[in-house]
Amino acid sequence: YYEHLQQSEKLKTTWQLAAAVAHEIRNPLTVVKGFLQLYESDASTPSDRKSTYRLMMDELNMAEKVISQFLMVAKPDTGEKNTEIIDVGQELQNIVDLMKSYSFLNDSEFFLELESDCQINMDAMEFKQLFINIIKNAIEASSHGQTIKIVNEKENNYIYINVIDSGHGMTKEELQSLGTPFYSLKSKGTGLGMMICYNIVLKYQGTMDIKSEKEKGTAVTVKFPACSI
Ligand code: ADP
Ligand code: MG
Repeated sequence: YYEHLQQSEKLKTTWQLAAAVAHEIRNPLTVVKGFLQLYESDASTPSDRKSTYRLMMDELNMAEKVISQFLMVAKPDTGEKNTEIIDVGQELQNIVDLMKSYSFLNDSEFFLELESDCQINMDAMEFKQLFINIIKNAIEASSHGQTIKIVNEKENNYIYINVIDSGHGMTKEELQSLGTPFYSLKSKGTGLGMMICYNIVLKYQGTMDIKSEKEKGTAVTVKFPACSI
Protein backbone atom coordinates (compact mmCIF):
# COMPACT_ATOMS: atom_id res chain seq x y z
CA TYR A 1 0.00 0.00 0.00
CA TYR A 2 1.54 3.23 -1.19
CA GLU A 3 1.03 6.70 0.10
CA HIS A 4 2.21 10.11 -0.99
CA LEU A 5 3.18 12.96 1.21
CA GLN A 6 3.60 16.65 0.58
CA GLN A 7 5.76 18.83 2.72
CA SER A 8 3.67 21.94 3.31
CA GLU A 9 1.45 20.73 6.14
CA LYS A 10 4.47 19.42 8.02
CA LEU A 11 6.17 22.76 8.45
CA LYS A 12 6.08 24.19 11.90
CA THR A 13 6.83 27.75 12.94
CA THR A 14 10.06 28.31 14.80
CA TRP A 15 8.06 28.96 17.96
CA GLN A 16 6.16 25.71 17.77
CA LEU A 17 9.44 23.98 17.20
CA ALA A 18 11.13 25.77 20.09
CA ALA A 19 8.35 24.64 22.42
CA ALA A 20 8.80 21.07 21.21
CA VAL A 21 12.58 21.29 21.68
CA ALA A 22 12.17 22.60 25.23
CA HIS A 23 9.87 19.70 26.01
CA GLU A 24 12.27 17.22 24.45
CA ILE A 25 15.25 18.50 26.45
CA ARG A 26 13.43 18.50 29.76
CA ASN A 27 13.37 14.70 29.84
CA PRO A 28 17.15 14.16 29.71
CA LEU A 29 17.66 17.00 32.18
CA THR A 30 15.22 15.40 34.61
CA VAL A 31 17.06 12.09 34.36
CA VAL A 32 20.47 13.65 34.95
CA LYS A 33 19.19 15.76 37.82
CA GLY A 34 17.71 12.69 39.47
CA PHE A 35 21.03 10.84 39.32
CA LEU A 36 22.96 13.84 40.65
CA GLN A 37 20.59 14.07 43.60
CA LEU A 38 21.27 10.41 44.23
CA TYR A 39 25.04 11.04 44.14
CA GLU A 40 24.69 13.51 46.98
CA SER A 41 22.83 11.09 49.22
CA ASP A 42 24.61 8.51 51.37
CA ALA A 43 22.81 5.76 49.51
CA SER A 44 25.02 5.98 46.43
CA THR A 45 28.10 3.77 46.23
CA PRO A 46 31.05 4.27 43.86
CA SER A 47 29.85 1.36 41.74
CA ASP A 48 26.38 2.96 41.47
CA ARG A 49 28.07 6.07 40.18
CA LYS A 50 30.02 4.18 37.61
CA SER A 51 26.95 2.47 36.22
CA THR A 52 24.86 5.63 36.05
CA TYR A 53 27.62 7.71 34.46
CA ARG A 54 26.98 6.18 31.02
CA LEU A 55 23.25 6.73 31.33
CA MET A 56 23.74 10.39 32.16
CA MET A 57 26.20 10.86 29.34
CA ASP A 58 23.78 9.28 26.85
CA GLU A 59 20.98 11.57 28.00
CA LEU A 60 23.18 14.66 27.72
CA ASN A 61 24.42 13.63 24.29
CA MET A 62 20.84 13.27 23.12
CA ALA A 63 19.95 16.71 24.47
CA GLU A 64 22.97 18.17 22.69
CA LYS A 65 21.98 16.51 19.41
CA VAL A 66 18.44 17.85 19.64
CA ILE A 67 19.71 21.38 20.29
CA SER A 68 22.22 21.40 17.45
CA GLN A 69 19.67 20.03 14.97
CA PHE A 70 17.15 22.58 16.13
CA LEU A 71 19.66 25.36 15.57
CA MET A 72 20.13 24.15 12.02
CA VAL A 73 16.43 24.46 11.29
CA ALA A 74 15.83 27.64 13.21
CA LYS A 75 18.87 29.62 12.13
CA PRO A 76 17.58 33.01 11.03
CA ASP A 77 17.01 33.19 7.33
CA THR A 78 18.66 36.45 6.34
CA GLY A 79 17.15 36.26 2.89
CA GLU A 80 20.66 36.02 1.54
CA LYS A 81 21.41 32.66 0.06
CA ASN A 82 24.89 31.37 -0.36
CA THR A 83 24.07 29.59 -3.58
CA GLU A 84 26.29 28.08 -6.20
CA ILE A 85 25.83 25.84 -9.20
CA ILE A 86 25.83 22.25 -8.08
CA ASP A 87 26.57 19.32 -10.32
CA VAL A 88 24.02 16.96 -8.81
CA GLY A 89 25.55 13.68 -10.04
CA GLN A 90 29.03 14.65 -8.86
CA GLU A 91 27.84 15.87 -5.51
CA LEU A 92 25.74 12.73 -4.89
CA GLN A 93 28.82 10.64 -5.65
CA ASN A 94 30.79 12.63 -3.05
CA ILE A 95 28.05 12.16 -0.46
CA VAL A 96 27.85 8.41 -1.12
CA ASP A 97 31.64 8.11 -0.71
CA LEU A 98 31.21 9.85 2.61
CA MET A 99 28.36 7.56 3.71
CA LYS A 100 30.02 4.28 2.66
CA SER A 101 31.65 3.68 6.01
CA TYR A 102 28.25 4.07 7.64
CA SER A 103 26.68 1.50 5.28
CA PHE A 104 29.36 -1.05 6.29
CA LEU A 105 27.57 -1.22 9.65
CA ASN A 106 24.74 -3.26 8.17
CA ASP A 107 26.32 -4.35 4.91
CA SER A 108 23.90 -2.38 2.78
CA GLU A 109 25.11 -1.61 -0.71
CA PHE A 110 24.82 1.39 -2.99
CA PHE A 111 23.71 1.14 -6.56
CA LEU A 112 24.18 4.39 -8.42
CA GLU A 113 22.76 5.65 -11.69
CA LEU A 114 24.15 9.14 -11.73
CA GLU A 115 23.77 11.39 -14.75
CA SER A 116 25.87 14.38 -15.56
CA ASP A 117 24.30 17.54 -16.96
CA CYS A 118 22.03 17.99 -13.95
CA GLN A 119 22.66 21.35 -12.37
CA ILE A 120 20.80 23.16 -9.63
CA ASN A 121 21.44 26.42 -7.88
CA MET A 122 21.61 26.10 -4.11
CA ASP A 123 23.78 26.20 -1.02
CA ALA A 124 26.19 23.26 -1.27
CA MET A 125 26.11 22.66 2.49
CA GLU A 126 22.34 22.41 2.43
CA PHE A 127 22.39 20.03 -0.52
CA LYS A 128 24.77 17.84 1.44
CA GLN A 129 22.74 18.03 4.62
CA LEU A 130 19.57 17.11 2.72
CA PHE A 131 20.96 13.98 1.12
CA ILE A 132 23.00 12.86 4.09
CA ASN A 133 19.76 12.79 6.09
CA ILE A 134 17.83 10.91 3.40
CA ILE A 135 20.62 8.40 2.70
CA LYS A 136 21.27 7.89 6.41
CA ASN A 137 17.61 6.94 6.89
CA ALA A 138 17.83 4.55 3.94
CA ILE A 139 20.89 2.85 5.47
CA GLU A 140 19.26 2.66 8.89
CA ALA A 141 16.13 1.06 7.38
CA SER A 142 18.17 -1.56 5.50
CA SER A 143 19.61 -4.82 6.67
CA HIS A 144 22.32 -7.16 5.48
CA GLY A 145 22.95 -7.09 1.75
CA GLN A 146 20.04 -4.84 0.84
CA THR A 147 20.70 -2.23 -1.81
CA ILE A 148 20.09 1.48 -1.83
CA LYS A 149 19.57 2.86 -5.29
CA ILE A 150 20.34 6.49 -6.05
CA VAL A 151 19.29 7.94 -9.37
CA ASN A 152 19.23 11.44 -10.79
CA GLU A 153 17.77 12.71 -14.04
CA LYS A 154 16.64 15.83 -15.78
CA GLU A 155 13.18 16.21 -17.25
CA ASN A 156 11.30 19.31 -18.42
CA ASN A 157 13.69 21.68 -16.65
CA TYR A 158 13.40 19.84 -13.38
CA ILE A 159 16.01 17.70 -11.67
CA TYR A 160 14.72 14.54 -10.02
CA ILE A 161 16.73 12.70 -7.40
CA ASN A 162 15.52 9.33 -6.14
CA VAL A 163 16.81 7.45 -3.11
CA ILE A 164 15.23 4.01 -3.09
CA ASP A 165 15.81 1.46 -0.38
CA SER A 166 14.45 -2.05 0.05
CA GLY A 167 14.49 -1.83 3.82
CA HIS A 168 11.75 -2.24 6.43
CA GLY A 169 9.50 0.46 5.00
CA MET A 170 6.67 2.24 6.76
CA THR A 171 2.97 1.77 7.38
CA LYS A 172 0.55 4.43 6.20
CA GLU A 173 0.41 5.85 9.74
CA GLU A 174 4.20 5.89 10.11
CA LEU A 175 4.53 7.68 6.79
CA GLN A 176 2.00 10.29 7.84
CA SER A 177 3.92 10.98 11.04
CA LEU A 178 7.26 11.33 9.28
CA GLY A 179 8.51 14.90 9.23
CA THR A 180 6.66 15.83 12.40
CA PRO A 181 9.26 17.19 14.85
CA PHE A 182 10.64 14.45 17.11
CA TYR A 183 8.75 11.63 15.44
CA SER A 184 11.25 8.79 15.52
CA LEU A 185 11.02 5.03 15.88
CA LYS A 186 14.76 4.73 16.54
CA SER A 187 16.21 4.40 20.01
CA LYS A 188 18.91 6.94 19.15
CA GLY A 189 16.93 9.04 16.68
CA THR A 190 16.08 12.69 17.18
CA GLY A 191 13.17 12.72 14.74
CA LEU A 192 14.38 16.01 13.28
CA GLY A 193 16.15 14.77 10.15
CA MET A 194 13.20 14.73 7.76
CA MET A 195 11.90 18.02 9.07
CA ILE A 196 15.26 19.58 8.26
CA CYS A 197 14.97 18.06 4.78
CA TYR A 198 11.48 19.51 4.20
CA ASN A 199 12.74 22.94 5.19
CA ILE A 200 15.70 22.82 2.83
CA VAL A 201 13.62 21.51 -0.09
CA LEU A 202 11.02 24.22 0.36
CA LYS A 203 13.64 26.96 0.55
CA TYR A 204 14.67 26.18 -3.03
CA GLN A 205 11.20 25.73 -4.53
CA GLY A 206 11.56 21.98 -4.52
CA THR A 207 9.27 19.16 -3.49
CA MET A 208 9.86 15.88 -1.69
CA ASP A 209 7.58 12.89 -2.15
CA ILE A 210 7.89 9.68 -0.23
CA LYS A 211 6.37 6.34 -1.08
CA SER A 212 6.72 3.44 1.26
CA GLU A 213 5.44 -0.04 1.82
CA LYS A 214 5.92 -2.03 5.00
CA GLU A 215 8.59 -4.74 4.60
CA LYS A 216 9.19 -3.68 0.99
CA GLY A 217 11.04 -0.41 1.14
CA THR A 218 10.91 3.32 0.71
CA ALA A 219 11.43 5.67 -2.22
CA VAL A 220 12.19 9.33 -1.65
CA THR A 221 11.90 11.63 -4.66
CA VAL A 222 13.28 15.15 -4.46
CA LYS A 223 12.54 17.56 -7.30
CA PHE A 224 14.27 20.90 -7.88
CA PRO A 225 14.03 23.43 -10.70
CA ALA A 226 17.02 22.90 -12.99
CA CYS A 227 19.50 25.71 -13.29
CA SER A 228 20.12 26.92 -16.80
CA ILE A 229 23.71 27.87 -17.53
P1 ADP B 1 15.38 9.89 12.89
O1 ADP B 1 16.16 9.30 11.74
O2 ADP B 1 16.23 10.63 13.87
O3 ADP B 1 14.48 8.88 13.55
P2 ADP B 1 13.96 11.25 10.78
O4 ADP B 1 13.15 12.51 10.79
O5 ADP B 1 15.12 11.21 9.87
O6 ADP B 1 14.40 11.02 12.29
O7 ADP B 1 13.00 10.03 10.47
C1 ADP B 1 11.82 9.85 11.23
C2 ADP B 1 11.33 8.41 11.21
O8 ADP B 1 10.82 8.10 9.92
C3 ADP B 1 12.39 7.36 11.47
O9 ADP B 1 12.59 7.12 12.85
C4 ADP B 1 11.84 6.13 10.76
O10 ADP B 1 10.92 5.49 11.58
C5 ADP B 1 11.07 6.74 9.59
N1 ADP B 1 11.86 6.68 8.34
C6 ADP B 1 12.54 7.69 7.75
N2 ADP B 1 13.15 7.29 6.61
C7 ADP B 1 12.84 5.97 6.47
C8 ADP B 1 13.15 4.96 5.49
N3 ADP B 1 13.94 5.22 4.42
N4 ADP B 1 12.63 3.71 5.67
C9 ADP B 1 11.85 3.44 6.74
N5 ADP B 1 11.53 4.33 7.69
C10 ADP B 1 12.00 5.59 7.57
MG1 MG C 1 17.09 10.37 10.20
